[in-house]
Amino acid sequence: MVMKATMRISLSWLGWKGNKSPKSKSDIESDRQLVRELLAEVKSIDAFNPEQPFYDLELDKDDPLLAHLIERLQARPDLVGPGITVMHRFGKFELAEAPLLVWRMTNQAVEDDVYDMEVDGYKGGPAAAYVHCPICRAMLQQRRNLRLRTRRMGARDLSLTFGGDVILSERVRTLFAQHQVTGVAFRPVEADVRPHRPGPQLSQLVATHTLPPMQAPPTEFEGTQQCAECGTTAQFIKHTHMWGVLMYYEPTPIFYYRGVMSDTADINATCERLGEPPVARPYLLISQRLYQLLLQERVKSWDVEPVHIVE
Ligand SMILES: [Zn+2]
Repeated sequence: MVMKATMRISLSWLGWKGNKSPKSKSDIESDRQLVRELLAEVKSIDAFNPEQPFYDLELDKDDPLLAHLIERLQARPDLVGPGITVMHRFGKFELAEAPLLVWRMTNQAVEDDVYDMEVDGYKGGPAAAYVHCPICRAMLQQRRNLRLRTRRMGARDLSLTFGGDVILSERVRTLFAQHQVTGVAFRPVEADVRPHRPGPQLSQLVATHTLPPMQAPPTEFEGTQQCAECGTTAQFIKHTHMWGVLMYYEPTPIFYYRGVMSDTADINATCERLGEPPVARPYLLISQRLYQLLLQERVKSWDVEPVHIVE
């Protein structure tokens, strides 16, 4: 089975804030009828309730009914909620065949460094966890161990901090060490002891192997910004698209030249920093071997998407 793409789109007969407003009673009544018709046309009439203004719909991206709905909405984008999103779900075989996979943590249970959050902010003062660029505030270099409220981790295997550091449980750190997972070092995490109730022992994952640049094209970027002070480039993998007048979000794939595969580790950092400048970070790409290990050992709180290899 290959990737399944599902579009999430919201309709409302009230319209959204910022759209043309206020509406007259007769406009509301005619829009209520229009939304009712639209729901009927995409076979969702059962969801209609004259008292309920908002409707969240999910349709396969290649469903002709979706194309019809989007066509109908071109004249009435004010009835469409913000944040139309296409979600990708990958098939088991597709994931099992990918030599590299983008690895993402699916929770942010542990916050940032306590000193950074409470005392020094993120301005990069002398005791901050990272040296920050004074202009774009990019995290240039870590200069000490993170001090975290470790109890927030609970029994989780993995967590991302708000700033994007990956925190590992002792179980996962031991697992990686036992299986000689390559491309990773473990940095101790210090427990913030206010109040005096230490949590589980944790480590910070430090990726030690960086890949050469992605193959671009076909990889596409957007929102690229380069800081004149520190030279850091922050960008996004392209994810915004237009369908007529409607903007929607759908991630696009990452491509590497096949030759790159001869020098990969189990954990690899991209050389690209991805995200908004202050928190733009390398993505972590993992090997098929590590993916299988995470599955076998039932490590939780992560997700993957395949990376594409081109000749
Ligand atoms: Zn900078």
